[in-house]
Amino acid sequence: MKNELLFINNLTISVDKKTIVSECTLSVNLGSVHAIMGPNGSGKSTLALAVAGHPNYHITSGKLLFDGQDITELSADKRAQLGVFLVFQYPYAIPGVTISTFLREAYRAVTGEKISVKDFHQLLQEKMKLLSIDHSFAQRAVNEGFSGGEKKRFEMLQALILRPRLMVIDEIDSGLDVDSLKIVADALNVLRKENLKMAIIIITHYPRILQYVTPDHVHIMHNGSLVQSGAASLAHHIERVGYNNMFNGTP
Ligand code: ADP
Ligand code: MG
Repeated sequence: MKNELLFINNLTISVDKKTIVSECTLSVNLGSVHAIMGPNGSGKSTLALAVAGHPNYHITSGKLLFDGQDITELSADKRAQLGVFLVFQYPYAIPGVTISTFLREAYRAVTGEKISVKDFHQLLQEKMKLLSIDHSFAQRAVNEGFSGGEKKRFEMLQALILRPRLMVIDEIDSGLDVDSLKIVADALNVLRKENLKMAIIIITHYPRILQYVTPDHVHIMHNGSLVQSGAASLAHHIERVGYNNMFNGTP
C-alpha cells in the first residue's frame, strides 16, 4: 500500500524463549497516530522494543515492513537510519557522556551528515528553546540524575534533532506532571507539523496523553494480542469502564 509506513504482519515475539506477543498485525499509515493501550504486562513494551530492533526481543514468526522494506532482520541502528525512533519507557543513563556530544554523534550516525560542531550547537540551541530547556542542559551527562520530566524532554529533544519518520512512544506519561506532559505533547505536535508524514505509535496505560495528541486509531492489547481496535472514542470508553471490566469473562 502506498500510504503505509509500517506494517506489522502477524508478528510473534519471544523473550528468553517465552512467547510474549502472538500474531500481532497492525498497519500504520504515513502521518497517522495510533494508540496502543492495555493493562500492565500485556506486551506493549515488548512490541515496541521488537519494532525498534532490540536484540533480546526475538521475532519468531511474521514480518515487519517499513516503507515496503522488510526490516525483520535489520539491526536497531539500521532501523534508526531508516527513521524508526523509540522513546524508551525507562531511558538509560550514560555517565560521562554529555547531551551535546551524545546528540551530535547520534545525528551523525543516523543522518550520515558530517555537521560541524558550530552548526550542531546552533541546531541544538534552537531545538532546546522549543522545549523550554535551559542551554546549560546540553553539558549534563545523559540521563544522569534526571527527573522524570527531564528524561522525557530529552527524548523529545532527540526526536527534534533526529527527525524520525516513525516514533514509537512507550508510556511517556508515567510519572509526568501536567506541565511536563504538555511540553512533551507540544513537542510531538511541533514534530508533526515539521513532518506531516511522520507517524506515531503512542503506547499508554492511561488515556491522559491522548487528550493532547488525538489518535486516529486506538488498539487494545491484552495477554500479548491486539484484541480490539477503534476510533479515539475507544480510549474514553476504557477510561469509563476500566480494563478489568472490559476483559471480564475473557481468558
Ligand atoms: P507492558 O509494556 O504491556 O506492561 P511488557 O511487554 O513489558 O508489558 O511485558 C509483557 C510480559 O512479558 C510480562 O509478563 C513480562 O514479565 C514479560 N517480559 C517482558 N520483558 C521481559 C524480559 N526482558 N524478560 C522476561 N520477561 C519479560
Ligand atoms: Mg511497558
